[in-house]
Amino acid sequence: VDFALTEEQVLFRRQIIDFARKRLNEGVIARDEASAFDRDGFLACAELGLLGLPVPEQYGGLGLDVVSCMVAMEALGYGADDQGLAFAINTQLWTCELPILKFGTEAQKQRYLPKLVTGELIGGHATSEPGSGSDAFAMQTKAVEDGEHWVLNGSKTFITNAPIADVLIIFASTATGEKRGFGGGLSAFLVDMDTPGVSVGKPLHKLGLRTSPTAEVTLEDVRVPATAMLGKKGGGAAIFNAEMEWERSCLFACHLGAMERQLERCVTYAQERVQFGQPIGNYQAVSHRVANMKLRIELARPMLYKVGWLKDRGERAVLEAAIAKLYVSEAYVQSSLDAVAIHGGYGYMAEYEMERMLRDSVGSVLYSGTSDIQRNLIARWLGL
Ligand SMILES: Cc1cc2nc3c(=O)[nH]c(=O)nc-3n(C[C@H](O)[C@H](O)[C@H](O)COP(=O)(O)OP(=O)(O)OC[C@H]3O[C@@H](n4cnc5c(N)ncnc54)[C@H](O)[C@@H]3O)c2cc1C
Repeated sequence: VDFALTEEQVLFRRQIIDFARKRLNEGVIARDEASAFDRDGFLACAELGLLGLPVPEQYGGLGLDVVSCMVAMEALGYGADDQGLAFAINTQLWTCELPILKFGTEAQKQRYLPKLVTGELIGGHATSEPGSGSDAFAMQTKAVEDGEHWVLNGSKTFITNAPIADVLIIFASTATGEKRGFGGGLSAFLVDMDTPGVSVGKPLHKLGLRTSPTAEVTLEDVRVPATAMLGKKGGGAAIFNAEMEWERSCLFACHLGAMERQLERCVTYAQERVQFGQPIGNYQAVSHRVANMKLRIELARPMLYKVGWLKDRGERAVLEAAIAKLYVSEAYVQSSLDAVAIHGGYGYMAEYEMERMLRDSVGSVLYSGTSDIQRNLIARWLGL
């Protein structure tokens, strides 16, 4: 087992951290309060190459392997205080660009990837519906074939990037009756947001990740050409599952980076804050919290990177991605609670940023499949 990063990975990591600190952090408290997306920051990330990490050079990207993508995302999570912006970037990468790259036709790749990489286009994916979240494959959105077109009807909710998106990968049932259940008969479509019949609701007000806009999307007789289908008819579940493997590793590497930044701030605070005549870090109640935060980070990292390592060997990593996602998300929430506790009343105040980190962390046990769903996946893998 080799835990060492290559020289390129170390350099790129340093470059991303320096960039994020300089370019992405100013004004984050105000943006969080205003639920404002930092489009300039998004474009600056594109300029650095972050929006093209796994995309081959022929489409304008960097063509990195999975582990290098994870190193980059960990660095972004560590350097960038604006975790909503990082979330929007991850959404675009793993649930829009990656599926186009892996399942798209050459024409679809040429049309979308170069512009997604430069940030000229913003993308996302729409699976969840008001009546189906965890049970995603029970979706009611339908796509019906009409000559050389498909006509989509339905509604989607909780769609990250929807208010700012130019294109969404929309999942819909193309089943004609019996082929439902476990994703049979689901297909994916590349839908431009200016297509007649597509409407986006008002941005949803969220607990955390407020700088990443989210909304409902309604589809009323949305006609798209047959060439808008991504992958093959009935291939939607395979696309969704592939997306989830990437998201559960790379997005959560970003969360790991955020946990490292959080730990550093807690150590500094515990060294500087004096109560009863000594730094609070001298009290075991505080230092053990810090030790637990460190333990979670060190346990999370190998779990996450094992997913990248397997994927770089061309292997599937469904079980490992579920384990890593489950562990990192729950660790992130627990460490965020510890960080607030260590900071006392200051931890509850916006200025110290620990309350925002706590709010930002909570979504991680919900999106990409809730903790319960990860446990179900792991148990199913074990034969239950
Ligand atoms: C910040 C954020 C961003 C998101 N972005 C997107 C996006 O871009 N695109 C998209 O399509 N979706 C997105 N989602 C939606 C997300 O995927 C769903 O919220 C998630 O899958 C859970 O679905 P639900 O909210 O309908 O909850 P439900 O499925 O209704 O679950 C409610 C509760 O029941 C539990 N539960 C349900 N079924 C089972 C079961 N079989 N066994 C055990 N427990 C169960 C769940 O664990 C949960 O505790 C986002 C969500 C959030 C919070």
